[in-house]
Amino acid sequence: MTTPSPLNAPLPPGRWALALHGGAGTIARSSAEAEAPYHAGLRAALAAGEAVLVQGGSALDAVVATVVALEDCPLFNAGHGAVFTADETHELDAGLMDGATRAAGALAGVRSLRNPILGALELMRDGRCVLMGGAQAEAWCAARGVVQVDPSYFSTAARRAQLHAVRARDAEAMLLDHHAAALKMGTVGAVARDRHGHLAAATSTGGMTNKRAGRIGDTPLVGAGVWAADGHCAVSTTGTGEHFIRGCVAHDVHARMAYGAQGLVDAAQAAICDALAPLGGSGGLVAVDADGRIAMPYNSTGMYRAWAREGEAAHSAVFEPLFLR
Ligand code: ASP
Repeated sequence: MTTPSPLNAPLPPGRWALALHGGAGTIARSSAEAEAPYHAGLRAALAAGEAVLVQGGSALDAVVATVVALEDCPLFNAGHGAVFTADETHELDAGLMDGATRAAGALAGVRSLRNPILGALELMRDGRCVLMGGAQAEAWCAARGVVQVDPSYFSTAARRAQLHAVRARDAEAMLLDHHAAALKMGTVGAVARDRHGHLAAATSTGGMTNKRAGRIGDTPLVGAGVWAADGHCAVSTTGTGEHFIRGCVAHDVHARMAYGAQGLVDAAQAAICDALAPLGGSGGLVAVDADGRIAMPYNSTGMYRAWAREGEAAHSAVFEPLFLR
């Protein structure tokens, strides 16, 4: 069921590939003018990762640079511009994985790290534990030089209005955004293959609007929200986190490739259609394989995304092509 896509063609050896997402969900179509800032944010983040890769930098450094740019952009639900919990606070989750070493680092429920992905990177470099949460994680990261901010840094008027809208609708931890008054999910992530053939993935989120304080989603969980293994794939997911956890969706892509001999595009589509959707989950993922193929399936109405491969033009998109059966 391979979907015809130029991105399903392998890259010549020694070329890099990079893909990112800025969240998936129920996104209403609006004018090109209204969508322009989102495309600009996606392209700027893509450029940050590309800048690493064109200099021969590592996939890991590229996905970190990309996610930092997305965390800093208030339009996307991570870092500045993160959604509010039911307690009107921000609790941020982030995780990353280096395909070359299978080292990983992740943070859950942090409230004061300006760029949670940089804290996750510190944890990975330290190497003694993979996942830390809460105040102790923040203190440890701060002692290692990760920048802290007042939590008000993360707040934006749009996210506060979104929280009030969710409450007004009496909804439970819905995934909402105010892009053209549409409902959608958020989270950011990136995957890369560098010139040396190494893979890496990084994912960062504010979680779900009006989520219960203390709730942790899929984003910082290796195998659910983030995964990278050289020779196979790097994956970053976005969507209804509980379903991605229960479906181990990021690792499901790897498993289909490793044990089922599927190619990246088929494996990524099947992970969404056959591992996520039957659980009632909604969302998408971006993935890259060892040959630089890129897959970006989603079963929501849209997914903010951008991608580039060495020697090819860069692209950003929100809607079609859906890459789904
Ligand atoms: N997966 C994220 C979470 O559940 C939210 C999202 O990607 O929209 O926290």
